This record gives sequence, structure tokens and C-alpha cells, in this order.
Amino acid sequence: MRRKIVAGNWKMNTTLKEGLELAKAVKENAESGLPDGVSVIVAPPFTHLTGIKDVLPSSIGLSAQNCATDESGAFTGEVSAKMIASTGAQYVIIGHSERRLYFRETDDELNKKVNMALSNNLTPIFCCGENLEEREKGIYTEVVKKQIELGLSGIDKDDFKKIIIAYEPVWAIGTGKTASPEQAQEMHGYIRNLLAEMYDAEAADKVSILYGGSCKPSNAAEIFANEDVDGGLIGGASLNAADFLAIARSF
Ligand code: PEP
Repeated sequence: MRRKIVAGNWKMNTTLKEGLELAKAVKENAESGLPDGVSVIVAPPFTHLTGIKDVLPSSIGLSAQNCATDESGAFTGEVSAKMIASTGAQYVIIGHSERRLYFRETDDELNKKVNMALSNNLTPIFCCGENLEEREKGIYTEVVKKQIELGLSGIDKDDFKKIIIAYEPVWAIGTGKTASPEQAQEMHGYIRNLLAEMYDAEAADKVSILYGGSCKPSNAAEIFANEDVDGGLIGGASLNAADFLAIARSF
């Protein structure tokens, strides 16, 4: 059975105090139980990782939202995968559409980041997804194919098995527009088939593919009910512990 995952991407929100309070609220809410086989991960800003690590039980995963392409050196303002791992975090989001768009991160850089994460024992949560124009032109599968092929270029099967994929149509992120369950399943199925071609059917069958884009308690169940949707990467709704955990309980 594939791992079901609900990961909260807090983006650039919360002060340290607010972040610690949110992490405590997530912990307390999660104590009242989660469906079998569902894992919860939180991805606060870098500045909060160490403090939040001390608050969270080991059953809740901790993720960074980005990492540098290099391990150390003269890269002012960057944070390396090695540094992230040293906080006790186990995951890192790579290739979020906001990084691709606002920070001009290229497929080549993202591929380096995936390698950096893996070599520092962090699980990459690798994001892909088309924008509105690409969806309307009907080229969304090609766009996602290229992102995945280039982002995971050179990653062997053993390392691939450690990766989590997040399909996030850019037109659905923070817009309140969610992909329909059919649109989500179409893309998740497409991605799994692509991964089967790149690796093999067994490896593709085991990888968790999360959906992201305006997922909330009211729509999570119908999206998660799809065969190839293994959970969600949640932005806005992850800033409220009750909503976030309600999403995790939507399986
Ligand atoms: C995200 O940014 O990963 C995301 C899915 O955001 P939202 O849930 O707010 O659309």
C-alpha cells in the first residue's frame, strides 16, 4: 500500500512564536487520532525548524520549503540541505511553483537540489504543475513531463524510491480554484505512467503523488478518493491546525 501523506506548506507566514503555537496546535489535534497509514508533515520557514523540531512528536514529519544547490560556501543567504538535515528535519520541498516563478529556479538547478537533498538523507517533495496558459493550450502533460524528466534526470531507481511527488496546477494554488477530481486523477495517472516508463511499474506504483492547489476540508475527500492521489500538499489551509488535520482525516 502507498503511503498517504498530508503536508502543510506554511510558505512565508508566521513569526517564530506564531509558528511554535501552530506546531503545538497541530501536535495536539493529531493526538486525537489519524486514519491508519496517514502521515502528516509540516513545512515551516527555515527560521522555525529547530524550535519546531523540539515541539513535534516523531510521528509528525518536518520539512524545509527549499534548499541550496550547493552544500556550503560563499552563497550569502542560502540554506543548504546539510544544514536543514542538521536541524532534524527529514524532508524538503523542491521546485514549488513560487520558486520556479518568482525566483526563476530552473530545471537544472532543481535537479541539483534534488541530488543535494538525497545525498543529505532528506526526502525531496518534488513539485510540478502547469500554469493556466499551459492548461488552456492543452500542453499540460508535456509541461509536467519536462519538469519531471529534467528535475529527476540522473536519479537512479533506489534514490527515486525515496522521493515524494506533488502535482500542483499553478492555476489552483492560492486561487480558490481546485482541480476537479477528474482533472487531478488524469494528471496523477499520467505522472505515475511516466514514472513507470522512467523507472519501472513497481517503483512507480510505490511512489506517493500528492495533489496541491486550494485543497481544504470541504474538497479534500473527493480529491483523495482518486486511485492515484496519495494525499495533499496544503498551503493556505495548513495555517489553521483544525483545517489541516481535517484534511488529513479526509481519507
Ligand atoms: C501550495 O502552495 O503548495 C498550495 C497548494 O497552496 P494552496 O493550498 O494555498 O493553494
